[in-house]
Amino acid sequence: MTELDGYVAVVTGGSRGIGAAITRAFTAAGATVIVHSRADSAAARTLTRELRSGPGRAVNVFADLAETEGPTQMWQEFDRVTADLGLPPELDVLVNNAGINARGTIDTLTPADFDRLIAVNQRAPFFVTQHALPRIRDGGRIINVSSGSARYASPHIVGYAMTKAAIENFTRSIAVEVGRRGITVNAVAPGVLDTDMNAAWLRHDIDQPPSAAQHTALGTLADPADIAAVIAFLASPAAGAITGCVIDATNGNRL
Ligand code: NAD
Repeated sequence: MTELDGYVAVVTGGSRGIGAAITRAFTAAGATVIVHSRADSAAARTLTRELRSGPGRAVNVFADLAETEGPTQMWQEFDRVTADLGLPPELDVLVNNAGINARGTIDTLTPADFDRLIAVNQRAPFFVTQHALPRIRDGGRIINVSSGSARYASPHIVGYAMTKAAIENFTRSIAVEVGRRGITVNAVAPGVLDTDMNAAWLRHDIDQPPSAAQHTALGTLADPADIAAVIAFLASPAAGAITGCVIDATNGNRL
């Protein structure tokens, strides 16, 4: 028996980067993962196909969370796929992982980029969580992906950092709102990781000193699997006493 045996989890943005690592960790621990992606893609289908032979299973759903109706559509898809799989429409774990970055200072960030940051990083987790609450079982888990940038000055990504600071307050406030149902709500804050989100910046050192790794105590960048391991722990029965917390998983960034 594995840690998340029989669990049903939703991971937004679950088909690449940190999200794909969470999907892998959860299925390895026995969960059925409803893998949300913005749009249908070969990568999303390949990941769920690859995981067919594991202890858990993974199923795709698609919804653009930048759109106002995106969260509603995602949960309609959740209800459809759980019915197709013969599962009760009940959820054990929600991970609000999907997110975008947009580089820009107070002088240069455009209104369009600002609005998209708010839509994907802030509005979507709020309404994805609102729709999750009638479906999540008492004692379930909600885990939000924040960022170290939520709590230190982040020139050049100021709009992004604002949205992540908001997610951390959302985490604490919702932990109190749902705590009497035994549901825990926590956030994990990664530091800089080498995922698609940062690919251009890390390759070309835009706006930053040569190596982001040099800002960490460990002298290295964490890997998506390292973040997924922390999230899998928070999802597990062992983490039942932890709620309203933000766990930094930054390799000791800017200590
Ligand atoms: P990524 O770009 O590889 O993945 C982002 C995911 O979000 C993708 O699956 C993407 O499809 C999804 N997404 C983006 N826009 C969407 C939309 N409109 N609708 C639905 N889904 C959408 O980046 P990642 O590094 O894996 O990021 C995952 C999370 O980790 C994000 O919340 C990000 O802010 C956070 N984070 C990343 C880093 C880092 O350095 N990479 C650091 C701290 C926090």
